[in-house]
Amino acid sequence: MALMITDECINCDVCEPECPNDAIYLGQEIYEIDPSKCTECVGHFDEPQCVQICPVACIPVNPQHVESRETLWQKFQRLQAAKS
Ligand code: SF4
Ligand code: SF4
Repeated sequence: MALMITDECINCDVCEPECPNDAIYLGQEIYEIDPSKCTECVGHFDEPQCVQICPVACIPVNPQHVESRETLWQKFQRLQAAKS
């Protein structure tokens, strides 16, 4: 599942550099997550790094992008292939 950032985000900036997939970016008002790049950190870490570090716990699962672990793993592999 890709994650999403809700409007409780306080723009503290700490999650963006923690994302191994560069999926987090500053949107028009708050930070946002590109679901095509978010693997819920599968392939990199055991836990979603943004969720671990967010001080206001505003990063839930995106209900529009429910994906299995296998699908997330395949997304991770596609992203890695695109990098090389
Ligand atoms: S869960 Fe991981 S891949 Fe997804 S946005 Fe957060 S840090 Fe990036
Ligand atoms: S860590 Fe949380 S509050 Fe800070 S910018 Fe990211 S989503 Fe927003």
